Amino acid sequence: MRTPASWVVVGLDNGGTTNNATVLDATGQYLVDRLVETPSRVREGPDVAIESLAIAFEGILELTGTVRTLVRAVGLDTPGPASAEGVISSKGATNFSQREWWGFDIRGALENRLGLPVVYANDANAAALYAHYAHFGTDAPARSSVSAIVGTGLGGGVVQSGSVITGAAGMAGELGHVHVPLHDVLEPDQPMPRCNCGFEGDAESVASLTGIEKNLLPYWLTRFPDHELGRVEIGKAAKLLRGYGERDDPLAKAVFGQQAAAIGRLFTIAANVVDPHAYFVGGGVVEAAPQFRDWFLAQVRRYTLLREEQQRAAELALVPDLDMAGARGAAVAALEKVQRPA
Ligand SMILES: [Zn+2]
Repeated sequence: MRTPASWVVVGLDNGGTTNNATVLDATGQYLVDRLVETPSRVREGPDVAIESLAIAFEGILELTGTVRTLVRAVGLDTPGPASAEGVISSKGATNFSQREWWGFDIRGALENRLGLPVVYANDANAAALYAHYAHFGTDAPARSSVSAIVGTGLGGGVVQSGSVITGAAGMAGELGHVHVPLHDVLEPDQPMPRCNCGFEGDAESVASLTGIEKNLLPYWLTRFPDHELGRVEIGKAAKLLRGYGERDDPLAKAVFGQQAAAIGRLFTIAANVVDPHAYFVGGGVVEAAPQFRDWFLAQVRRYTLLREEQQRAAELALVPDLDMAGARGAAVAALEKVQRPA
């Protein structure tokens, strides 16, 4: 715990069950080095959820001994889909399923409640921004990066010159829904994976927990008919699979090998679109036992086809501190807005 140099920004990560909060000072130092969680209560609707975010905000100021008048801006991140300005999709979203959430301006509502400027980022973009700043430090504003974060879905973010690319409709960096070539990744008799978005063979259809449950595991269980995971409910089996990977189980290695290949193919596309200085991989699959994580990253690298010049200029690295990355990235977004207003 440190006292702030001068002014600060607050980062609030809004999740399905908890809010996580942090404070970042003007010199780029975090005033907390751990998760600080409070209930998010998003399933009780917008009014309760906004109040819960205000509680998280006041709580982190109290915990860090930060005077409210030092706060210049607040960064907020939530799961999508939402617009670049923090308006929840008109069709709702997994965490925001009640009718009152549809088309709700969560950023504007928090801004009104706190009386401070609120900067919005979706959770994957916030994590991408944190990875970028944590990796590049003071060079961050002069660097570009692409992040892929494997979770229930495949979250992504593209950072250019230190800022997240949001796009005209707020849909830039949706790397999970980029089609990737799978012709030599899938087995000859393996069905084309399908994504919840309606696409077949996009990155998320392979490289996500949903992709394991719906596509990869059902197929690979037919190849390993005696595997003990065949007797486990498929959703549960998908979640258990990483533990098997860490123990070098052949079925698990086949599944995660395909995931790594899909991410490598995705990065190959990114190399030809944005040619970034860094490619970041995040998610449970790389927050695993070191041997398994290194194997997974080596597979990603093998399938990431860079030109010689790009190999010299770019690196592949992990998204650090993923549990804190949302709050920290939201804080970076707020800091950036204060320091470099558009
Ligand atoms: Zn998709």
